[in-house]
Amino acid sequence: MDRRNYGVYRRYSKKPGINKGKDYTGLFRERIPLTPENIFLLILPLLLMLILVPPPKDVVAEQAEIPIEENVEPISIVVFYNNDSVIDKADLEEYLIGVVAAEMPHSYNQEALKAQAVAARTFAVSRARGLYGSFSEHFGADVCTDSSHCQSWISMDEFLETGGNETDWAKISQAVASTKNIVMTYAGQLINPLYHSNSGGATESIEAVWSNLGEVPYLKSVYSPDESVYNEFEGSTVFTWDEIKKKVKNKYPKVEFKNDPTQDLEIISYTSSGRIEKIRLGSIEMPGTELRELLNLPSTNLEFSFPDENSVEIISKGFGHGVGMSQCGADALGKKGYSYKEILEFYYTGISVEELRH
Ligand SMILES: [Zn+2]
Repeated sequence: MDRRNYGVYRRYSKKPGINKGKDYTGLFRERIPLTPENIFLLILPLLLMLILVPPPKDVVAEQAEIPIEENVEPISIVVFYNNDSVIDKADLEEYLIGVVAAEMPHSYNQEALKAQAVAARTFAVSRARGLYGSFSEHFGADVCTDSSHCQSWISMDEFLETGGNETDWAKISQAVASTKNIVMTYAGQLINPLYHSNSGGATESIEAVWSNLGEVPYLKSVYSPDESVYNEFEGSTVFTWDEIKKKVKNKYPKVEFKNDPTQDLEIISYTSSGRIEKIRLGSIEMPGTELRELLNLPSTNLEFSFPDENSVEIISKGFGHGVGMSQCGADALGKKGYSYKEILEFYYTGISVEELRH
């Protein structure tokens, strides 16, 4: 309390002897008759207080907002570590360093690493909030470390043991720290930020890969330049025709072949980005995505050639499902001078890059 105000208290002091017998307020020096007018005047201040003071529920609402804003960190996430079959709670930002280290080469442009950090963060938080994916495959944890289901993850020790050094780890940590709490949203909701290694020149619309998910406005096919310089751009695998037939028969025992790969292999349709939509193998038709899984191919952007009568060479373009951000493309754009935000906006149509709301 400000000591300079002590005089006010001294004036109304109840110390014995000082104010004895005196009423310093002067209000009750005379008896006031209890007429209706006087009663009204007496309760008037009370009425004014009731009108001017906000009702309790508004006070509660205002108070509720303050702790939410102040309580933004730290965010933790429950991770199922597939390699160790362990579920553990991790600090989100710490966990993200391991994800970026595992999901993108540390040699990539810093803006690409930042874009990867934002995509990984949006992926993890959206799953923790139950917006996409499922918990059933990792025993109720928010995310797992299986790249084919959620996102890869590597510890710092593993990173150092597998060729990375501390400077590289610091570079990745900086990419995560400099985008702290930044996520991607569409229409106010966290997006499903799918990403892949190399698009082969154009990304894929989500419905062409997962028809059950339907169209998603921000996961549309876009032209992705300058990816051909990366190793992941093109691949070639030679199968024997018997090998392919065996794999198809395992899944479709009733399939029939003419025993001539040039007759038995037919591309029926392509998606708008040039990937195989539907293909015929003997008497069976299947989506390109199913063939990719069956033969463990890098992508569904495929060409076939027949080196001899019992061999099929499959040339693939790109690496991964092709939906959302291409990591090679992100690096290429970063080297061209795009910011991480511009990279994300390039691959995820119409999104916003903003602070995570709680
Ligand atoms: Zn998972």
